Order: sequence, then structure tokens, then C-alpha cells
Amino acid sequence: ENSSFSKLLVVLTLSGSGLVAYSEAQSSDIPISTEASESKKKKRVVVLGTGWAATSFLKNLKDPSYDVRVISPRNYFAFTPLLPSVTCGTVDARSVVEPVRNIIRKKRANMHFLEAECFKIDAENKKVYCRSNLDNSLNGEEEFIVDYDYLVISVGARVNTFNIPGVSENCHFLKEVEDAQKIRRTVIDCFERASLPNLSDEERKRILHFVIVGGGPTGVEFAAQLHDFVNEDVVRLYPTVKDLVKITLLEATDHILSMFDKRITAFAEEKFQRDGIQLKTGSMVVGVSNKELSTKQVKSGEKAVIPYGMVVWSTGIGTRPVIMDFMKQIGQASRRVLATDEWLRVEGSDNIYALGDCATINQRKIMEDVTAIFHKADKDNSGTLTVKEFQDVANDICERYPQYELYLKNYKMHSLVDLLKESKGNAVKDSVEVNIEEFKSALSQVDSQMKLLPATAQVASQQGVYLAKCFNRMEECEKNPEGPLRIRGEGRHRFRPFRYKHLGQFAPLGGEQTAAQLPGDWISIGHSTQWLWYSVYASKQVSWRTRVYVVSDWARRFIFGRDSSRI
Ligand code: FAD
Repeated sequence: ENSSFSKLLVVLTLSGSGLVAYSEAQSSDIPISTEASESKKKKRVVVLGTGWAATSFLKNLKDPSYDVRVISPRNYFAFTPLLPSVTCGTVDARSVVEPVRNIIRKKRANMHFLEAECFKIDAENKKVYCRSNLDNSLNGEEEFIVDYDYLVISVGARVNTFNIPGVSENCHFLKEVEDAQKIRRTVIDCFERASLPNLSDEERKRILHFVIVGGGPTGVEFAAQLHDFVNEDVVRLYPTVKDLVKITLLEATDHILSMFDKRITAFAEEKFQRDGIQLKTGSMVVGVSNKELSTKQVKSGEKAVIPYGMVVWSTGIGTRPVIMDFMKQIGQASRRVLATDEWLRVEGSDNIYALGDCATINQRKIMEDVTAIFHKADKDNSGTLTVKEFQDVANDICERYPQYELYLKNYKMHSLVDLLKESKGNAVKDSVEVNIEEFKSALSQVDSQMKLLPATAQVASQQGVYLAKCFNRMEECEKNPEGPLRIRGEGRHRFRPFRYKHLGQFAPLGGEQTAAQLPGDWISIGHSTQWLWYSVYASKQVSWRTRVYVVSDWARRFIFGRDSSRI
């Protein structure tokens, strides 16, 4: 690897019209064009990825004083919540993607896209090493280096196979648009194959057994889509084999959709049973061959072998190799996910931000800070605070860590404020004591309940908007910091910390029925919620072009049904 870099075959500078590549150049000899020198004066922001986090960052970055390089192996943004619909042709693959060049073309800022994958981040020298995925794109040399002043890492995550033998080789995944297209072709393949002569009934049954591993929102939605596709469209076209179709959903825990309210879980499980989708909960996959899955019951240890025609693996996400390598460099090797602070800055490195599925905000660090705030206020080291002191501390924590606000207001602070109102005067006020240990343990319970931020498009896109706003106001906030007081060090932080607003979550269950868990624990299930799902997803499209495509795909499906040709 080193020898290929030492050659430094390709160094890129940028002209207004695009990239200029200089072969066999040493960095000191590089002839830099006038335009390139001008753009050198601008701070260079390198954005890795074109997914939810990166796209919302780019769309909201308004300050034209940055020189932005977007690097991703994918030259488009994909609207992932509609991928399950692509698997069955409810929506066309082209309708859920938007070329990234369309997005950056509309910006006033100086933005360029490079179709390449970053395979190494050199935080010390502020460089990223990239490899083009286009054949012979750079005269046979596909690697190049890009310098940055600020790096925004938003490369998402990869599928997690948990190193179970045979999963990578034999299962389908549902992560990218290509995956969804491949699943669609395989489903139709299975029906065509099962319709061929000279097959035993046993073999036909195996071919038409579709297994989904993972009862999270994606696995459940895919199972529902597949069931609708088979029952609404395929059965009419393949009448001879329709009765042999079987859909099985395997889940290792006791329930599907366990992150949702119990009422939604119960509704989904009952609906699937009514629809004939076989649910196998408490069942873990231990191996996959090209025709069979081996499973083990979590509680009883009972083993089973399940013949299948197609398996879709949807069990969660893992860290990308480039991120694991970077984590080792910056002393985060022991962690599973890249840790940032609440300003989305990667811990242990300068001017590097990480957002979306590839990173998580470090909760442990936050707890340490909260404890430090307490100890600072507890001047006599008694382990208790007076009400006045406590209120100052609580306000401090709320400002700095808004996620505790609800707890502090609803639980301790409110009851203490009420107590104060009822009390007769200052003497009583000051005599009320708050035990720090009790309070800390309560906060850690809040912490464990909050868990880590979920890996969703909602979080990723809110983080992108937040970071773009910080970049837009970088100079202004340098002069007039608007963030909370620093716990360690003097003055205020430049920006307010990132705050996630949960807007609710959908679980489409098929048959034009959807379940939704909305803020304030509002639950809505049924046909009307399906219409809410249609309107939300139409409104969330990144462009009018995709919005029109998606809505017309839905209309086309209502009128003509789904297309079952294998293209
Ligand atoms: P991504 O959107 O995955 O983007 C990562 C980007 O990085 C891609 O452009 C990729 O090409 C690029 N990249 C990868 N490696 C490199 C590299 N080495 N160098 C440079 N670039 C790289 N969330 C919801 O909130 N609601 C839903 O209904 C929902 N449904 C989903 C359905 C499916 C089928 C899937 C797969 C996910 C769904 N999600 C949903 C989750 C959501 O898609 C993710 O949380 C979200 O995509 C994360 O955004 P991101 O920007 O971090 O990563």
C-alpha cells in the first residue's frame, strides 16, 4: 500500500471546469492553476458519502466561502425507506434516486463531486486516500489523494453478517438500490424456475420458500411487500404454483418490531399470522448453505434445517473497514462505533466530523461532564446541594445536555419547584437537600433508556442540517459564541450542541395498512395511517423529480398492478 502511495502518481488540483490531474508529480512540483490557487484560499471541506447525512449537509450548506469536495463510490442519493418497495416493483429503482450532481449544481457554493471510495483517512496530515471505482478512470491508476481543512465523514454502515458461515455467499441483503433490484429479479426467477417441468413438488416448494432473517422494520416491511406482491400480482400469473408459496420471518428475540410500542408489535404479529406469513421468533440462524438454513432455538437449543429458495438477511449494521482503520489511528480501537461529542466532532481528532450511521455520540463522556458540573457546584464536598444550587446545576445541565431536560423538569426540578412554592420562605428553601449520588444514578437510568441514537435516516439528515448550519455560521460564532459554558476550559462553546427531534416512525405492514409511533407515544394503525405514510414519504423526497416519479409509480401500481417481468 505504502509503495503505491510513495509513487504519488496522481495529484489532483481543481480548475473551475473540473479536475486537472498531474501524473508522476511530487507535491512540491505541482503546477497550480490560478483558479486553483484562488480556491486554495478557501477552506476545503471534504465530504465522504452521498447518503442521508451527506446530502442534507450539502443541501443546507449555504456559505459560498468553502471549497467542497464530495467523494463517494455512488454518484446518487438513494431514498432508502422506499427500497423495500423497489424489491417488488411497487416503485421503480430510478424513482428513489437523485443524481448528486443535480443536488450540488443548484448550490451557489464551490462544490465538486468525485466518484471514488475513500479507503484511508490520514488525520495527522489531513488527507484522504481514494480509489476510483470507474475502470481505467485515471490511465490505469485509480488511486489519488485529497487534502482537507475540514473532513465530514458520512459513509454510513455496512451489513452485519455476525460472521455466520455462508451468509455473505448465499443471502441477499437490502442496503443499496442494486440489492433491491437483485432481490426483485430473484423473486421472479424463483417463480419462473418453479414453473419449469420435471421438478418434484418438494423442489418446487423449496424454490418458493422465501425466508427473511431479522424482524426489524426493514425485514418486516420486506415480508409485507413480498406477501402483497405474491398475493396481488404473482398468483394471477403463475396459477400452477401459487399454492406452494411460503414466506417465513425469523427473529432471534421474542418479538418482531421490538423497538416499537407493544401494541404495534402485537398488531403486526397477529396480522402476519392472518396473512399466512410464518413467524419464527427466538430462532437464531447459525449457518447458511446454498439451499438450506440451519437454525437454533435460543431458549431450548433445538436445531432445525430450513430449505429455501431465497433468503434476505436484514439483521442490523456494522462498521465499514475504512472507519475501523481510522478508529485505530485515533485511539478508538476498543469501540464498536466511531465516537463523537455532541457537536459531532470525532473524539481524538481535529476538524473531523462524523454523522449518520457511521458514528455515535459518546454518552459515557456526557455522564462524566454531568458529574463534573455537580462536583463544581458542591463546594463543601458534602455530596448534597441546596435547592438553589441544584436549580443552577439543573439549568446548566439542561442548557448543555438538552436530552436531560425532560427528566429534570418533569421529575426532580418540578417537584422541587412545587415544594418551594408550598414552603414558607427562604429558610426552608435552603434547607432542602438534593443527594448527588441518588441524582447521578437516576441520570444514568435516563441514559440507558435513551440508549444510543438510532441508526435512522431521520437522525442522519438532522445531523446533516445541524452541521451545515454550524459551518454557515462558523465565522459569526467564532466572534460571538452561542454555545453553553465550557466545563473544561474558559468561555463558551462556539455552537449549541446537536439535539435530535424524534418525529415518529412508521412500520408498513402490507395490505394498505401501516403502523405509526408518533411523538408523545401516539399510536396509529390501519388504512388511514397508510395514507399518512404516502403523504410523508412523498413530501420527504429530495427533489420534485423523484416526488413526481414516486407518486406516479404508486398510481401506476393501483391501476395496472406491479410489473413482474425480469429485467
Ligand atoms: P447512507 O445513507 O448509507 O450513505 C452512506 C454513503 O457513503 C453512501 O453514499 C455510500 O456510497 C458512501 N460510502 C460508503 N463507503 C464509502 C467510502 N469508503 N468512501 C466514500 N463514501 C462511501 N431510516 C429511517 O429513518 N426510516 C426508514 O423508513 C428507513 N428505512 C430503511 C430501509 C432500508 C432498506 C434501509 C437499508 C435503511 C433504512 N433506514 C431508514 C435507515 C437509513 O437508511 C440509514 O439510517 C441512513 O441511510 C443513514 O444515513 P448515512 O448518510 O449515515 O448513510
